[in-house]
Amino acid sequence: MSQVSQLVRYWHNTYMLDPTFKFSQHSLSDFAECPRRFHLRYVEKQAWPLVETGPTGLSPLEYQSYLWRGAVLHRWIERYWLGITPASPDGIRSAADGDELQVWWSRFAATGFDDLPPQRLPELALVAQVGEHSLYARFDLLAIDSTEPSPQPSPKGRGGAPSPGGRGGAGEIGSGRAVIVDWKTLRGGRPPRDAFLAQRFQTRIYLFVLATASAAYNDGLPFSPGQCCMRYWLANFPAQPWVEIGYSQADYERDRQWLLDLMEDVLSREGEAQFPMAQDERRCGYCTYRTLCRRAGGHTAAPAGPQDLDEWFDIDSVAELSF
Ligand code: SF4
Repeated sequence: MSQVSQLVRYWHNTYMLDPTFKFSQHSLSDFAECPRRFHLRYVEKQAWPLVETGPTGLSPLEYQSYLWRGAVLHRWIERYWLGITPASPDGIRSAADGDELQVWWSRFAATGFDDLPPQRLPELALVAQVGEHSLYARFDLLAIDSTEPSPQPSPKGRGGAPSPGGRGGAGEIGSGRAVIVDWKTLRGGRPPRDAFLAQRFQTRIYLFVLATASAAYNDGLPFSPGQCCMRYWLANFPAQPWVEIGYSQADYERDRQWLLDLMEDVLSREGEAQFPMAQDERRCGYCTYRTLCRRAGGHTAAPAGPQDLDEWFDIDSVAELSF
C-alpha cells in the first residue's frame, strides 16, 4: 500500500494505524501469533487491567517480579557499558528476589567480552525502511568495528563467525564487523537450540535492520549481512554463556521479502473482523487480553513445548506491559 493511499484512508477515518506507526519485532510477533492482539494493542490501543504472564510456571506476581529483575539487570549492564559505576548488588540484598539478580550480575561480570569489536553502543535504536514502511529495532548492545578483521569464534560460547556471502563480496567480509548482543534471562533445563534462535522474529528483524540502517556507524555504508551477527548472552547457562547467529546475503534477501509480505498483510486489513483470534488457545493463557477475549482458561492447556511458546524476557516487553 502506498503512502498516498495510507493518507487517503487516514483522512477518511478508515485507516487503522497512525501514519507514523513503526513496525517492530513485538508488533509483528503479535500479528503472527494473534491478529486480534495486534488490533487491540496497536490499532485500538486498548488498555486492559490484567498482567501478562509467561509459560514459566510462575504465578502472575512471581512473573512480574521476574520481569523486574530482568529490567534491573538490563539497566546495570547498560550503565556498565556507559562507564557508570553500577548500583551495588548489596543494595538489593534485602529484597526477596535479590539473590537471582546477584547471580546474573556475577555471571555477567565473569563473562569475557574481549572478542567483541571495540566500539560498544548500549541501547541503540535504528529504524530501517522496508519498501514504504518503517521497521524499528532497539539493541541491548551493538559492538562495531568498521576495520577489524573477522575473528575466529571463541570456544567459550557457541555459534560461529558471520556467515559468508555479504553484499560487498567475499573480499569485504573481513573488513568490518558488527555484533548485536542481547541479554537473556531464559530459564529452562537446557540452552535454546541454534535453529530456534535463528528463526526467532527478534533475530531476523534485528539483523535485517542492522544490515539496512547502520550506514551512520560504518562510514556511510551499512554493514553487509556477512559482517553482521547476533549474540544471545544467557544468564542462566554459565557453562555456555552465549549463542551466536550469523547472517548472509541470502538470509537478508529472504527476510526482506518476508517482512514486506507480513507488513502488506497487516496493512491490507481493515476493521476488527479481519483480525481474528489466535487459533492456538494456548497463546491466550499468558495474554493481557485473556479476560477481554473470554479465553482466560487457556493457561490450563498444556504448553506447546518449552520453546514453542516464547518464554524469553525482553526489556521492550516491559515497556509494552506498562501501556
Ligand atoms: S486472549 Fe487470545 S485471542 Fe485474545 S488477544 Fe490474546 S492471544 Fe489473541
